[in-house]
Amino acid sequence: EVRVRFAPSPTGGLHIGGVRTALYNYLFAKKHNGKFIIRIEDTDQKRFVPGAEEYIYEALEWLGLLPDESPKVGGPYGPYRQSERKAMYRQYVEQLIEKGHAYYAFDTEEELEAMRERLVAAKSKNPSYNAISRMSMKNSLTLPPEEVKARIEAGEPYVIRMKVPHKKEIRFKDHIRGWVVVHASALDDKVLLKSDGMPTYHLANIVDDHLMKITHVIRGEEWLPSAPIHVLLYEFFGWQPPEFAHLPLILRPDGNGKLSKRVADQLGFPIFPLTWTDQEGNVSVGYRERGFLPEAIINFLALLGWHPSDNRELFTLEELIQEFSLERITKSGARFDFEKAKWFNQQYLRQKSGEELLPFFFEGLEQAKVGISTDDIAKEKAIRICELMKERITFPKDIWEEASFFFVAPAAFDEQAVAKRWNEQAARLLKTYAEKLQTTDAPDGTAMEQLLGKLAEAEGVKVGKVMPALRLALTGQMAGPDLVEIMNILGKEEVVKRLLYALE
Ligand code: GLU
Repeated sequence: EVRVRFAPSPTGGLHIGGVRTALYNYLFAKKHNGKFIIRIEDTDQKRFVPGAEEYIYEALEWLGLLPDESPKVGGPYGPYRQSERKAMYRQYVEQLIEKGHAYYAFDTEEELEAMRERLVAAKSKNPSYNAISRMSMKNSLTLPPEEVKARIEAGEPYVIRMKVPHKKEIRFKDHIRGWVVVHASALDDKVLLKSDGMPTYHLANIVDDHLMKITHVIRGEEWLPSAPIHVLLYEFFGWQPPEFAHLPLILRPDGNGKLSKRVADQLGFPIFPLTWTDQEGNVSVGYRERGFLPEAIINFLALLGWHPSDNRELFTLEELIQEFSLERITKSGARFDFEKAKWFNQQYLRQKSGEELLPFFFEGLEQAKVGISTDDIAKEKAIRICELMKERITFPKDIWEEASFFFVAPAAFDEQAVAKRWNEQAARLLKTYAEKLQTTDAPDGTAMEQLLGKLAEAEGVKVGKVMPALRLALTGQMAGPDLVEIMNILGKEEVVKRLLYALE
């Protein structure tokens, strides 16, 4: 059974790149009828941010990426929060000590700093705590065993480090990057257990992946340097490692480097799925609050580093599950394109019915405070307006802005627009038209249009020449949706009223 996990650390708002990682894990799990698990990696108490964990659930719920197992919903391999698993890790690290793959180290911060300086001065390419440097350090590999025991018993602080072999090539196959080969001499003797008894990321991560029976580790490329360490640890434990897939970086829109919060802020687009308030009280508006639909964000993120077998662009979550495969994830970084995100939003707004869009329309109307109550508007008419406007909007709140002319007649006309759309001939014809309309029965937009057609013909004027002026008179705008439908919704009386006003 396929079992994958999304393993965020609750150290702040979840970036949109983290959401992509969650999405790809989710798609892969569902594609293979497997399980999608959320594990909270909160062993680093110093970086813990209150509210961050709840935020992660809320964001994923908004997007419909519901886990099969998580701290919130539970599951057979819990607890799913690492801080609650603390007691479990020690026995594993002791196994490694017994096997000679890990050791106690008593170095103080100052000693470690002095070591680093020495190595840098000696022009060491890799000033790390490893096979060569550990020979001179204070650890159980260099101290006599009795001394080690005595120090531990005396309560002297220590960490437990993994013992990276001198000569070894670590190889593993990544689904996206192919074979990855790293020489052990390039690796640090990573700390596995900290002096406060907490496991480090490396230890907790692989112990949990093993105990939770994770089959595939799908995560961001920034974790690729950790993978050889993890592969080595699996070998030390004698466990079968999971398969790896490291997702391409998300790049800034110009392709120059990684997308960061700072860049997103600068360019004015959200980096968070939902609005996030940091500990200093700074608010970053999220995609949801900007008016993005969850379907649009899912579709957009799916294509940020993955492509389907053809050029198709629109996919529901269900369709993505069918299509998804690790093989079609790209190796090279994926440029973040905010305009494309907006395009997806437009596409999904169009798929909504007028009825579904109605609440957004009414919300805009209420916020605009133009003295019209939603109760005064026939629901049917409002739905028709939403239908008419949905092709023209990027965000739900745009409906009111685009449609406000239905409720607020144009009071003044833009000079430029008048210069372009209004002329003597049109004015003359529209005057006759307004008069004629008042005495004629014209129940709908089509009838009103036909009447105008007849008048124009009688005067020898092409109707196409007056339509722009009519639009300007009725809406105050140079462009917009179908005029017949607009007249339909306005009704004859209102059309006449607006014409007469424009003709004054
Ligand atoms: N806790 C790590 C993170 O914050 C997990 C990395 C991994 O998936 O191994 O992304």
